[in-house]
Amino acid sequence: MFRNTVRVYFLRVERNFSQNRQNSNVAFLGCGQMGARMVNNLIKHGKKPKIYDVVPSAIQNIQGATPCSTPEETVEGADIIITMLPNGQIVKDTIMGDKGVLKNIRKNALLLDCSTTGPQVARKLNEAAQAANVRFLDAPVSGGVVGAQAGTLCFMVGGNEKDCKEVEPVLLHMGSKVHFCGASGAGQITKLCNNLILGVTMIGTCEAMNLGIKLGLDPKLLTDVVNVSTGRSWSSDTYNPVPGVMENVPAARDYEGGFSCELIAKDLGLAGDAALSINAPVPLTALTHQIFRTLMTYNLGKKDFSVVYKYFKGEALKNN
Ligand code: NAD
Repeated sequence: MFRNTVRVYFLRVERNFSQNRQNSNVAFLGCGQMGARMVNNLIKHGKKPKIYDVVPSAIQNIQGATPCSTPEETVEGADIIITMLPNGQIVKDTIMGDKGVLKNIRKNALLLDCSTTGPQVARKLNEAAQAANVRFLDAPVSGGVVGAQAGTLCFMVGGNEKDCKEVEPVLLHMGSKVHFCGASGAGQITKLCNNLILGVTMIGTCEAMNLGIKLGLDPKLLTDVVNVSTGRSWSSDTYNPVPGVMENVPAARDYEGGFSCELIAKDLGLAGDAALSINAPVPLTALTHQIFRTLMTYNLGKKDFSVVYKYFKGEALKNN
């Protein structure tokens, strides 16, 4: 009898705890290519997040969220605050700058930065958050706009493991995998390593596709063979850079709406900085970084990074 009463009590506590997590108020700052899609998936799972973007048109077509006109208003009363912003400087200004929202975030709330900012920024944010009694996790993502749309992102999390477990149900509304990577900054380090591979394999795929096509191969046939051979990668089988090979990828819409050259160049720069800090050689990172920076000078900075195919084809200069 006593044992059953205790069990019912614990079941109730556990249920209330998990309901509390499910009912948590979410605030979301930055509704661009990735953020808007992540917000839509939160809404699909029954959340009504408060959202903000410095460009008001970015949030005007999001149905089911509460649009806010300032970052302060957005974070007020939220249990979970997510930032999905272009770079580390903007994240730092938004959170801990003179007008930063850290002072408006309620004590013990969970602040997650899902942007790619590098480990140093993550650690600075973590220190500032701790001083304000706010819990912080670096939680960058992989999967691109396709994964953000489908809700299959992979989250790479650094910080306190218990906090990661606590927020996991909410992250799984936007993604299909949550990996705890270690102490503060470890999520960002994992992400930089991943994007280093991504940048290099995208350039390798573009180089090979252009070579094969110019030597007379059919692009779809070449892709099919590579995708069952050792040259296969995400860049060849999910995000193919050659127009006409796949639907629903940036190459199918003149490289609009994806992961911009500016953003991958930023990530490769961060990987280079991190490597310099420990004297690790990263020759391919350096070359890849320079290629994407060159594309930026051709006015292709806002285009998806698979546009590097056009550069090898010799079209980048002609059309821009
Ligand atoms: P994006 O430029 O499309 O979106 C960023 C959004 O932030 C924009 O809507 C912009 O208006 C808004 N913004 C800028 N400054 C702001 C501020 N001060 N306050 C509020 N909003 C502000 O970029 P994205 O492609 O969505 O990428 C966001 C982050 O995610 C970046 O750090 C990027 O490296 C990372 N990321 C992108 C991809 C991808 O495939 N696009 C994949 C993984 C990770």
